[in-house]
Order: sequence, then C-alpha cells, then structure tokens
Amino acid sequence: MGCISEGICRDCGTIYSIKTGGGFINHDLHCDKCGKLKTVYFMELREAPSKYRSFEEYAGKCECGGNYTMDAPPRCPNCGSTNFERDHTKDLMYD
Ligand SMILES: [Zn+2]
Ligand SMILES: [Zn+2]
Repeated sequence: MGCISEGICRDCGTIYSIKTGGGFINHDLHCDKCGKLKTVYFMELREAPSKYRSFEEYAGKCECGGNYTMDAPPRCPNCGSTNFERDHTKDLMYD
C-alpha cells in the first residue's frame, strides 16, 4: 500500500508531499543523502539485466552521490531536513 501525505518541515516550514511505500507495480526509494525520490517499477526490474537483483541495485546512485534505498526517509526539498510533521488528515492512499 502506498501513501501520499502532506509534510510540514519543522526547520523551514516548507509544505511538501511525501510518498512512502509502494504499490503492486512499483517501489518508492529515497536517496539516503538528499532524499530525492526514485520510483522503480517491478516490470523495469524484471526486464533489467540479471546483475540487478534488488530495487536498490537497480536504482543505483543519486546524482548527489548518495544511494537510493527503501529505508531512507523523505527529506524537505528546500533544506534537506528529515524533521517534519505529517498532516495525516490529507493522506491519500493508492493501490
Ligand atoms: Zn525544510
Ligand atoms: Zn541524492
């Protein structure tokens, strides 16, 4: 089950949407350094060369030098902070 919710950065007050989890067709990975979102589709991985065994390997490296991982938290797009408050009243669930 994937979820899109609204986050409010505690450090700079920026409001941004946070996507976590994934659905039946994709996984959402985040860069462990800058928090950039990378979506990998199951179908992409199935068609990729066999050296890619996991979503992390397939997603590769972010342009900032960090790695995309499933456990990295989303970050504020403005200041990069992971210190945010979630507004669950605006949660949007999808598949
Ligand atoms: Zn911020
Ligand atoms: Zn990055």
